[in-house]
Amino acid sequence: MTEQKKKFPLSPTTHESLKKMMDEASRKDARWQDGKTFSLVFYPGEEAAQVQEEAYLRFFFENGLNPSTFPSLRRFETEVVAISADLLHGDGNVVGNMTSGGTESILCAIRAAKEFALEKHGLAQSPDRERLPFLPEMIVPLSAHPAFDKAANYFGIKLHHAPLRNDFRVDVEAVKNLINENTILIVGSAPAYPHGVVDPIEELGQLALEKELPLHVDACVGGYILPFVDQLGYPIPKFDFRVPGVTSMSMDLHKYGYVTKGASVVLYRNSDLRKKQYFIYMGWPGGIYASPSIAGSRSGGVIASAWAMLHFMGNEGYLKMAKAVMEAADKIQQRVEKIDGIHIVGKPDACVLAIGADKLDIYGIGDELSIKGWHIDRQQNPASLHFTISYGNTPHIDTFLEDLETAVRKMRKLSFHKISSRLTVGLVRRASKILSPRAMSRITSKFGKQKKKGLPKRSAAMYGMMAVLPNKGDLNEIIRNMLDGLNRMD
Ligand SMILES: *Cc1c(COP(=O)(O)O)cnc(C)c1O
Repeated sequence: MTEQKKKFPLSPTTHESLKKMMDEASRKDARWQDGKTFSLVFYPGEEAAQVQEEAYLRFFFENGLNPSTFPSLRRFETEVVAISADLLHGDGNVVGNMTSGGTESILCAIRAAKEFALEKHGLAQSPDRERLPFLPEMIVPLSAHPAFDKAANYFGIKLHHAPLRNDFRVDVEAVKNLINENTILIVGSAPAYPHGVVDPIEELGQLALEKELPLHVDACVGGYILPFVDQLGYPIPKFDFRVPGVTSMSMDLHKYGYVTKGASVVLYRNSDLRKKQYFIYMGWPGGIYASPSIAGSRSGGVIASAWAMLHFMGNEGYLKMAKAVMEAADKIQQRVEKIDGIHIVGKPDACVLAIGADKLDIYGIGDELSIKGWHIDRQQNPASLHFTISYGNTPHIDTFLEDLETAVRKMRKLSFHKISSRLTVGLVRRASKILSPRAMSRITSKFGKQKKKGLPKRSAAMYGMMAVLPNKGDLNEIIRNMLDGLNRMD
C-alpha cells in the first residue's frame, strides 16, 4: 500500500473556512447529542457543560507540569484528588494525582506497585534494575480492563488472568492459587466493564493482607457512580478504602464524573505508596526533572474543568443524575427480561450491563440497532452487546427499547441477511480447515482492509468470522493493520 501524503499547509486558512471544514468533517460522527452512544460520551446537560467549557477556556494555555508556576492548578488538582478520595471513603492519609484517563491511572498504580516490590527486594536503586533477578507478576481478573495487559506489556510484567465464577465475578480462590513469590500486585474491578459486576473486593482485601501484597481496585467506570447508587439505597458491596487491604484505586472523572475527556484520578492508601509512582531524574543539563505521573506537560483546562464540575454538581447534583441513570437501567433490565430470546448477562450491580441472546444472533441484533444510529460495543465469550448507561441516554430509553424490540423481531424472522452472514461464517470455517494459513491470512486481511473506513454497518458476519478463525495470530495482524489504516490519510 502506498502512503498518501498531505503537505504542510503553505498559506493560512481562514477561521470561517475552518469552521466549514469542521462541520463537513463531523458530518458522519456519532450523534451523541441524541443520546445514541452508550459509553464514549458522558454528557451532564447544557448548564454543567457550559460551566466546564468556561473553566477550560479560562485555563486554556496554562500547564499543569510545574505546580509552583500555577498555584491555581496545584490547588484545583489537590482539591479534586482530596474530594474524590473522600467520596471513596479515604481517610486523611489517602493521596493521589490527576491523570489523563483510566489507562494512565492504572499504569501509574502498576508502576508504583512494581517500585514497591523492587524496594522490598532491595533492588530499587540497583544499577542492575534493568536485569532483575526475577520476573514480576500480577494477577488480574479475566474481566479487568485491557489497560492492565497494556501495563504488563509496557513494564515487563508477567500477567495472569484469573478466571471468573459463574456470576462473572473473579474467582478469589483461583487468584490465591496464582500467587507466588514473584507476585507484585493483585487486582479487582468495581465494577468490571464487560458485565458491570463488582468483584468480591472484601475477599480480595483479606487475601492481599494475608499475602502482604498490594491490591488495586479499578473503579474507573464505577468511582463516580457507585457511591451515589449506594446512597440511593441499592445494595452495593463495599469496594473502596473502607475495605482493609485496598492499597490503590483508579476512578475516571471523564466517565461518570461527566468531566471533559482527559481526566482521571489515581489514589493511594498513603503517601509512601504514592511516592513510588514518581519519576525523578537528577542528571539532566536542563535541570532536575521531577514528574508525578506518566504525562509531562498537562492541560490546565482539564484540571480546572474537573474542579469546576465537581463543585458545580456537588453530592446533590451527582445523586440526581445517578437516580435518573438507575431508573433508566432498571427500565432496560425489566423490559429485556420480558423480551423472548434475549437476556441480561449476569446480575449487574449498577448501570453498566450486557445483553445476550440464547438462540438469536446477538451481533445481528446489534447491527439492526446500528442501522438505527445506536452505537453499541460488541463483546465476546459470551457474545453480547454492551451498554454503559449515562445521563445523556436517559431521555431516550423508550426509543431505544422500541428499537431493540424491533431488532429482536427482525432477527427472529431468519432474514436473508442472517442466512448470508451464516453462510459467510460457515464458509470461512470450512475454508480454514482446508486452506493453508497463508491463504487464510490473505482472505482475512482483505477483510481487514474493507474495514479501513470504519466498521461496516452490518458486522455480524465479521464477528462470527473472528470467532472461528483458527489462529488468533492472524487476528492480531488483521487488527494491527486495521489500526494502522485508521491512523492513516484516506
Ligand atoms: C474505561 C475503563 C478503563 C480505562 O479508561 P480510559 O479512560 O479509557 O483509559 C479502565 N478500567 C475500566 C473498568 C474502565 O471502564
